[in-house]
Amino acid sequence: MKKVITVLKGDGIGPEITNEALKVLDKICSVYNHEFTYKYVDIGGVSIDKYGVPITDEGMEQCKNCDSVLLGAVGGPKWDYVDPSIRPEKALLAVRHELGLFANLRPTKLFTQLSNASPLKETIVGGGIDLLIVRELTGGIYFGKRVTDTENGELFASDEMKYSYSEIERIGRVAFESAKKRRGKVSSVDKANVLDSSRLWRKVMHALSEEYPDVEYEDVLVDNTAMQLIRNPGRFDVIVTENMFGDILSDEASMLTGSIGMMPSASLSSGSLGMYEPIHGSAPDIAGQDIANPIGTILSAAMMLRYSFDMAAEADAIENAVNEVLDLSYRTVDIMQEGKTQVKCSEMGTLVADRIK
Ligand code: NAD
Repeated sequence: MKKVITVLKGDGIGPEITNEALKVLDKICSVYNHEFTYKYVDIGGVSIDKYGVPITDEGMEQCKNCDSVLLGAVGGPKWDYVDPSIRPEKALLAVRHELGLFANLRPTKLFTQLSNASPLKETIVGGGIDLLIVRELTGGIYFGKRVTDTENGELFASDEMKYSYSEIERIGRVAFESAKKRRGKVSSVDKANVLDSSRLWRKVMHALSEEYPDVEYEDVLVDNTAMQLIRNPGRFDVIVTENMFGDILSDEASMLTGSIGMMPSASLSSGSLGMYEPIHGSAPDIAGQDIANPIGTILSAAMMLRYSFDMAAEADAIENAVNEVLDLSYRTVDIMQEGKTQVKCSEMGTLVADRIK
């Protein structure tokens, strides 16, 4: 198969980790006989320095006209005080918006080889953690009407949380379809005991669950979910929730694995075009030292193959290679343990690529 991938390396460790993911994708091409063409676009601080904007119009067009987008990370102290209208993250929000990326998928997996990296006790995580958070990304309170004004002589502010039936239905469908490919359970998270938007959310999810009789379904209140993620994370398979609840819960869940450098994510549109990136930022504190963990980006590339290119065997090959390298005791510094072999970012990429056969 021939595919065009827009590569946004970004700032800080972005170029280092992205290069390792490309190394792995190149190996996939040679083993499985595919042809991937990479189109490089500057994003974030590096683009601000060159062009005065965090992404150019031409760069955005390139993101829209390709088969998939792979992102490293953006931002850093150098650009913390630029005009808010051109901050590095503005480019990310713009790409999400322009590409209609309404579904954010964050698999949270505790690799058994790293189980002592979790802040939770062995008795809780011993059975493993393997859940997928499906977060609605383009609606809800982050996109509702905002008001700051004066009432009765004092300042007030309000933010509107609004969802339409179809917005809820399309994210729900992503969750049910994902559950069918996993362990077959959806936990829909809301605050239906208080919020009207949550009551509509629940109504739509119930209607959808009728269409998926083979998928086990439950409603869980968001406060209870926050608790259950700590008490018994193994009970979850797919969690689906609205934008703000998902923002908070996905960060909580990622910490259960204790290793931010390992976690991938995907943002999907209604077509096959998606954007794939590790969940962490540009880590300016370790940039340029070849010590970052590239596994989150490599696993994001695997998600790209699975979700945008329908290449399940190739995605499995990458995930198995990562597992094998961990089994062989290779670790980057962030996940280093006594008795293991410490490797650099570039060595980790090569180790994974070499195990794709
Ligand atoms: P961060 O995720 O960049 O770093 C947090 C800590 O985790 C740091 O100590 C860092 O060294 C470590 N870390 C992160 N990724 C790692 C990896 N792959 N391997 C080893 N260690 C890793 O978060 P931050 O420090 O809060 O933010 C730094 C910059 O990144 C900021 O400018 C922020 O705005 C930006 N940011 C960008 C994105 C994105 O591009 N999607 C996301 C979050 C933050």
